[in-house]
Amino acid sequence: MKFSNSRADVFVPDSQPATEALSRVTHLCVGAHQDDIEIMAHAGICDCFDTPGKAFGGVVVTNGAGSSRTGTYASYTDEQMQDVRREEQRAAARLGRYAIQIQLAHPSANVKHPGHVGVADDLRAIFSGCRPEVVYLHQPADKHDTHIGVLARCLEALRALPLESRPRRVLGCEVWRDLDWMVDSEKVALDSGRHPELGLALLKVFDSQIAGGKRYDLATVGRRSANATYHTSHASDRVEGIS
Ligand SMILES: [Zn+2]
Repeated sequence: MKFSNSRADVFVPDSQPATEALSRVTHLCVGAHQDDIEIMAHAGICDCFDTPGKAFGGVVVTNGAGSSRTGTYASYTDEQMQDVRREEQRAAARLGRYAIQIQLAHPSANVKHPGHVGVADDLRAIFSGCRPEVVYLHQPADKHDTHIGVLARCLEALRALPLESRPRRVLGCEVWRDLDWMVDSEKVALDSGRHPELGLALLKVFDSQIAGGKRYDLATVGRRSANATYHTSHASDRVEGIS
């Protein structure tokens, strides 16, 4: 499996051939950065975690070069930071028992460029290499430009597929801006309260981000709990977390 950037990384935790691993994927998440998948798609990770016949696939489109750094990581170059983040994403894939983890390593400028050939080719290869039941993408009200770029490139790639090859369900997921303000009839409430220890561990893997002073672990779990409690006013909480 070959992608356009020479630094792209394909990781199959159980060491099966990559093409086979991708073809087994039933739940696919495409996010901009290392850690977005674990924030967005915990429900999908849980759907596959211990279910025979279900397989989770993760795709990170950018190289994670521009992340903020303090403390332990303060002196790291962009290059070293990319290496750390690639390893963190691989560790998450191992922990969450993903079928495959692909990191395309594009500079974030590429994904903001409509029709960027390398990004388009890579996404086409991924979307045509599997037949997922559900695809998790960034949501259109997200306030991070790179997330919107990745969402737009994914929609271009999905719309370029023949009708019969398109996934049955495509969901926009919360990261940089939540979606509790949407009317209930337009929301899809995903149960992200399952496997809470795994959920927290998957977020804590990204030490380079959390140590940079951003408590994504606490914030993400807190949002899931808040969504579960505030989802319906007259019923008791049915699940521990909602995305
Ligand atoms: Zn992100």
